[in-house]
Amino acid sequence: MSRSVTVIGLGPMGQAMAAAYLDRGYEVTVWNRTPSRADALVARGAKPAETTEEALAANELVILSLIDYDAMYTAFAGAEHAVAGRVLVNLSSDTPEKARAAARWVEGLGGTHLTGGVLSPPPGIGSPDMSTFYSGPREAYEKFRADLEVITGKTDYRGEDPGVAALMYQLNMVIFWPAMLAYWQAVALAGAHGISASEIAPYATENYAGMGQFIDFYAPRIDAGNHAGDVDRISMGVASMEHVVHTNADAGVDTAFPEAVLAAFRQGAAAGHGSDSFSKLVDLLREPA
Ligand code: NDP
Repeated sequence: MSRSVTVIGLGPMGQAMAAAYLDRGYEVTVWNRTPSRADALVARGAKPAETTEEALAANELVILSLIDYDAMYTAFAGAEHAVAGRVLVNLSSDTPEKARAAARWVEGLGGTHLTGGVLSPPPGIGSPDMSTFYSGPREAYEKFRADLEVITGKTDYRGEDPGVAALMYQLNMVIFWPAMLAYWQAVALAGAHGISASEIAPYATENYAGMGQFIDFYAPRIDAGNHAGDVDRISMGVASMEHVVHTNADAGVDTAFPEAVLAAFRQGAAAGHGSDSFSKLVDLLREPA
């Protein structure tokens, strides 16, 4: 275990990570483009680096928590030589291809790149229950595993391909953002009728909690290529989504998001799958016309 770490990028995530290391008694060096964001951490004993070169020089283990991968290249401009011998654990989110390119870039500079995808908001950082995907060189992961478990108690190592942790993270985001937008849509519609977000919260929570049962039901059927319309049919989905669009329109609420969902159902019906389950949309999404 290294007991000393550098954290580069002090947005809410990086700040929470640096704080978690300080809580565990680590010697923590921090760098942020806007230096003032380090103030509270420095008051707690973190060492502020004036440059990324200094931040990289301070520790073998370097955690990156930037808005995206491009920010790393900007932040390291002129300090590339200092990457040699460092293990960069990149917890910034981006595409699998950007993660693979970054791994090649870091390796070309004589460093090691581990990709991470954190499945926790800032308040969950440091929690034993939260989890992070990692991929990249297994040796580096094993060497620093205990240190990484400070960030989230659970780590899910997905193999050597640096793109995989980014992909696993993106799969979660593909679900998370639209799922939350669906909730915002419901809150906006409820609000148009004088019903508060808090009033519908228990119903929304129950709705989302039940999603697991749908996933468990459909996943093996999809894998088996079974899209039988024995439980639901796309034609029913078209009618139901039309009701959703019209209910929003009648209340003067924006319909762009439900219309996008309706369009997917209509495509399924237009392709001749009105009598199939809406799980058939997976095939159509995979091979867009
Ligand atoms: P923020 O956008 O709040 O912080 C981004 C950080 O990137 C800041 O330190 C910012 O510096 C820095 N930055 C942005 N552009 C540049 C640049 N060109 N050069 C140098 N530094 C730059 O993000 P979060 O802390 O919320 O998240 C960090 C990462 O973690 C993101 O990739 C996010 O997707 C991911 N993530 C976030 C979660 C969350 O709930 N917040 C949950 C899981 C993952 P400055 O302070 O100077 O602006």
